[in-house]
Amino acid sequence: MFREKTSKIKRGRKPNRPKQAKQIPQSDTDLTLEVIRDKQESDSILKQILKYKIEGRKPDLGEISYESVHLKYWLARWESIDLKNGILCMYWDDDTKKGRWKICAPNSIEKTILWYLHDTKTAGHLGIKKTYEKAKLSPFYWRNMQESIKNYVNQCEICGERKNPPNKKRHCMKSYVVGDPFERIATDIAGPFPITDNKNRYILVVGDYFSKLTKAYAMQDIQAKTVANIIFRASIKRYGCPIEVHSDQGKQYESALFKEMCTLLEINKTRTTPFHPRSDGMIECMNRG
Ligand SMILES: [Zn+2]
Repeated sequence: MFREKTSKIKRGRKPNRPKQAKQIPQSDTDLTLEVIRDKQESDSILKQILKYKIEGRKPDLGEISYESVHLKYWLARWESIDLKNGILCMYWDDDTKKGRWKICAPNSIEKTILWYLHDTKTAGHLGIKKTYEKAKLSPFYWRNMQESIKNYVNQCEICGERKNPPNKKRHCMKSYVVGDPFERIATDIAGPFPITDNKNRYILVVGDYFSKLTKAYAMQDIQAKTVANIIFRASIKRYGCPIEVHSDQGKQYESALFKEMCTLLEINKTRTTPFHPRSDGMIECMNRG
């Protein structure tokens, strides 16, 4: 029996849309003293330190030999740890010798603290070093603070996207059709360079698409008048009037003077535009070389 086809056939390519980096949402945990006290009391390690501190008794090595490294870490800092308003705090001397009392952060609020240090609008997704500098000034301290900041920042999608922006779709390369020598020319400006004895600081480059001959002219400035003058006297008068002059979007080439010169000489002025297939960068390649 004939069965009606219900599923739609999808045709064509998927749109080339880069994956959006995810902003980590703000945690529901409010870092009030009550919450911190509560979280310390329910933390498997800190609650033991709390108990020892309330008893005023540091356990001896034999008693804790089978305990976790984490517990031993805090006990090794016994002299620097104290209770402030019922909250376990540690006097922390960083490498700048600016000691301060810091709250021993239970594991359950570590991510929330990191979010405040790195993800808020004012935190601005700073790098590992700067986020760690902020952590030093914050009221919190936890074991492996530097390491956990490093891992957090390295795993941040927003930071990752900034470092490696998704590839934008590029236009296919096309060959540029040329006719005769100096029929189509391209021009660009390089500099500023150290000033010469003749007070020149810039180089105007004019290249011929047909022969690939490229000429460079020294200039004192990059004003439209200077650029138009050189192109007219050094190139057009010598090699003939081109049909087309190609340039980037430099303001000299976009100036009324330059456009007027092109109009009078019936030159088609083209310019580099993003994703334009004819923006073949002949001159830019020469400048780099
Ligand atoms: Zn980030």
